[in-house]
Amino acid sequence: MTSSSELFKQAQKLLPGGVNSPVRACKSVGCDPLFIEKADGSRMWSVDGQELIDYVMSWGPMMLGHGYQAIKDAAHGAVDMGASYGAPCPGEVALAEEIIKMVPSIEMVRMVNSGTEATMSALRLARGVTGRDKVLKFDGCYHGHSDCFLASAGSGLATFSIPGTPGVPEGTVKDTLLAPYNDLEAVKAVFEKEGKNIAAIIVEPVAGNMGLVLPAEGFLQGLRDLCDEHGALLIFDEVITGFRVTAGGVGPRFGVEADLTTLGKIIGGGFPVGCYGGKKKYMNRISPCGDVYQAGTLSGNPVAMAAGVATLRALQQQDYDALEARTLKLAQDMKAALEANGFKMTLNHIASIFTLFFNGSDVTDFESAKKGDAEIYSSFYRHMREKGVNLAPSSFECTFTSFAHSEEDYEATLEAVRSFKG
Ligand code: PMP
Repeated sequence: MTSSSELFKQAQKLLPGGVNSPVRACKSVGCDPLFIEKADGSRMWSVDGQELIDYVMSWGPMMLGHGYQAIKDAAHGAVDMGASYGAPCPGEVALAEEIIKMVPSIEMVRMVNSGTEATMSALRLARGVTGRDKVLKFDGCYHGHSDCFLASAGSGLATFSIPGTPGVPEGTVKDTLLAPYNDLEAVKAVFEKEGKNIAAIIVEPVAGNMGLVLPAEGFLQGLRDLCDEHGALLIFDEVITGFRVTAGGVGPRFGVEADLTTLGKIIGGGFPVGCYGGKKKYMNRISPCGDVYQAGTLSGNPVAMAAGVATLRALQQQDYDALEARTLKLAQDMKAALEANGFKMTLNHIASIFTLFFNGSDVTDFESAKKGDAEIYSSFYRHMREKGVNLAPSSFECTFTSFAHSEEDYEATLEAVRSFKG
């Protein structure tokens, strides 16, 4: 079979950077990507024949492990009935039922095709419902690549945004307000100034895109209270955390309910899906029921719906507490092994997600996350990959375990960690 390096050479002539999503190019960890031939359980195999224990799990959704039999059967069965109809199908109803049953704050959902579409559409709904334009987001949180979320903090003013990439007009991000994660005082200050113009706060209730950062005590409730006080909607972006932090998402764990929730990849068992959902009084504003337009030719795709239903039904049978305990033990053992080799580490963990920062002090927001040593992370990544362990190719990402990871996997992982000397 053609090797990863040959494929990458060819890919670079055909695809920008040789990839269809930037982080996969492994640029920030200083090596070329592996091309994957197949994956099963906790493992992946590259086209070069290398076997890897996978802790990326397609960036989260493969929580039951790769190639979970019930998901494969459901998807195969659906394909046999036709790949796409462009008309309603029973799977849409079944998946909506599972999501609504599992996530307490969701009374109604609209299926879309990605996390990006979910957040973009949820914001449009919040703007439609409130008749306001501004949205508050947090530094270091990622909500997909739609224009208004690709904003960076402008110099000086915490609430002043500039486009985060060429191609995003200044006018588009002028309504995006920014605040540091976990800084309720900063959020209050923004609301004092702009409260009557803010349609929504969008937040990763547990942040996963600056490495894992947990919400400080009272932070989510504080956001809830500010939204209630000022008539804004609270949007939880649970594209990473949905069905991972608990079977019902982050809300139940922290006792805070969002008005709207966005979910992604996991609800399709790895197929391209997303959805946004929430209270009926808001969701009923979406067309054709209401006046806020949003549509999609492939939305509610029968294959993705079938895989999603199989995923969520299987997740309801799993022991989340046991996985959380095993994941914490792995993360702590990895941390101890790295510290024994002289590295200063910080561990952030929840449920089956963790990040080990090469940084000896607390990581509570984007500023503190950026203090991690990216150079050391890069050599750690390359070392682990050589030893057959696939970690995220960036220090600002999470490590994901799954119900398929075994004690053997963990032991092999620790052995690889122990031999990392920098
Ligand atoms: N929101 C969050 C929290 C995400 O982590 C991501 C991507 N991982 C997205 C939205 C965008 O999802 P997608 O890549 O499916 O468009």
